Amino acid sequence: MGERLLEADCASCVGLCCVAPAFAKSSDFAITKAAGQACPNLGGDFRCGIHERLEDKGFHGCVVFDCFGAGQRISQETFPGQDWKSAPEMLGLLAVVRQLHELMWLLTEALKLDAAERVHPKLRDELARIDHLAGGTPAQLKGLDVDGERQKVNPLLQKASQLARAGTPRKDYRGANLIGRKMRGADLRGANLRGALLIGADLRGADLRRADVTGADLRGTDLRGADLTGVLFLSPSQLRSAVTDP
Ligand code: SF4
Repeated sequence: MGERLLEADCASCVGLCCVAPAFAKSSDFAITKAAGQACPNLGGDFRCGIHERLEDKGFHGCVVFDCFGAGQRISQETFPGQDWKSAPEMLGLLAVVRQLHELMWLLTEALKLDAAERVHPKLRDELARIDHLAGGTPAQLKGLDVDGERQKVNPLLQKASQLARAGTPRKDYRGANLIGRKMRGADLRGANLRGALLIGADLRGADLRRADVTGADLRGTDLRGADLTGVLFLSPSQLRSAVTDP
């Protein structure tokens, strides 16, 4: 498998994420819109008319969203030469391919972990397999059990995480509700924070070296002064949703 870009390339997409999901007016979105309805800020050229002013205009949710490259894959490979007006079925596939690409991003991150070298061959096999699935026909993608695929991949990712966190205290906060929790300066070296809800938590100055934050909800989490050296599976999108040092 060649190197695939696992982050959004909006210039190669037809604005799928600006049409497919529903928005509810909130601190993340200035408007309410239904799924499948184009955002009024989306131009006829499939470009965002307020791209440089998203925060000012109340569209923080668009700033933090990342399709992991699913948008351009559907636009360029699954439905080449088409858009959501001529092929509306492409909208329904965004969530499917995005989840597969997120898995690919996680597998790619795991392959960067030297301590997990002994599972690298399996990680590479899974990466190729998921990439193949994401390149399926529209009918194949529609019928895919994405949760099942996630469950197949997760044990391998967890193994890579364990190997990379060996020798650290490894507190277990997997899936924990830590919303708004005061954890300033906490020792979270090697902690398992997979799927933890850390919305608005105070982690200023916390030691998160080699902590696993797979899928953790970091919206508004205060990470200023935190040590993120070697933190595992922290996506650019998660980081954009948190409060960080300038
Ligand atoms: S504000 Fe811009 S980026 Fe956000 S959904 Fe609308 S067109 Fe897309």
